[in-house]
Amino acid sequence: MASSACAEVGVRLEYGNPGDAAEQAVREELIASGVMKTGVAFINDHFKLAEPLVITLGGDDGPLFDGESPSIMIPYTFVDEVRHRFEQADYDKTGVMPEQATDDALLHTLFHEFAHALIYMYQLPILGKEEDAADALATVLLIEFFDDGQEIALSAADLFDLESDDRDVLKDEDFWDEHSLDDQRYFTTLCHVYGSAPNKYVAIVKEGLLGEERAELCIEEYAAISRSWLMLLEPYIKANETESSASRGGERP
Ligand SMILES: [Zn+2]
Repeated sequence: MASSACAEVGVRLEYGNPGDAAEQAVREELIASGVMKTGVAFINDHFKLAEPLVITLGGDDGPLFDGESPSIMIPYTFVDEVRHRFEQADYDKTGVMPEQATDDALLHTLFHEFAHALIYMYQLPILGKEEDAADALATVLLIEFFDDGQEIALSAADLFDLESDDRDVLKDEDFWDEHSLDDQRYFTTLCHVYGSAPNKYVAIVKEGLLGEERAELCIEEYAAISRSWLMLLEPYIKANETESSASRGGERP
């Protein structure tokens, strides 16, 4: 297809100036791994945007979506913190290196923020907690469009599990937060991975990570949530795109 003469509205990636040596190291790692580039290329290949969107790495706030600009901000310190969590948890025991898991979780984070951007740009109806809807879209995009999307989503789920360890005692503010509890975000993401491919991920039930009754419902739940999101986004998804866009290489054993 001939490229259009006028510039297409899309996403632009900006690596902000690092604040110190640690941030500089993260910046270099991100550029080398190409994970942000993969995410941005995916969005530009598959989505029509109403207005340009900037994704900025660096700064102190985030990850967040800011409707004013509009932009998605992901601090280098967040990336560093995520990698530390996977390292501290000896994540390589799962067969996935902490660097890979960090990239996986970042892709999920990017798509979560992108969900907020789509909701804002197109005033999409959200029937329930927007944060849950954003988590679900991130998981759906990974599973439906990436060769090993379930594996990427599992790393993201495990990050929620690790983050849940920050709190011994839950307080009122944890319950009134706009996000579901980290434990809930963990189990819901697991549920959607299982629901998308119950035969392949039967171990999730066998190992008792999800109860059998709940897991059974996850099959319907994933079907409903992926169908709903893709139906809602249909007018904004570019036609004739190739289905699978990226592969991150390998599954956990
Ligand atoms: Zn959010």
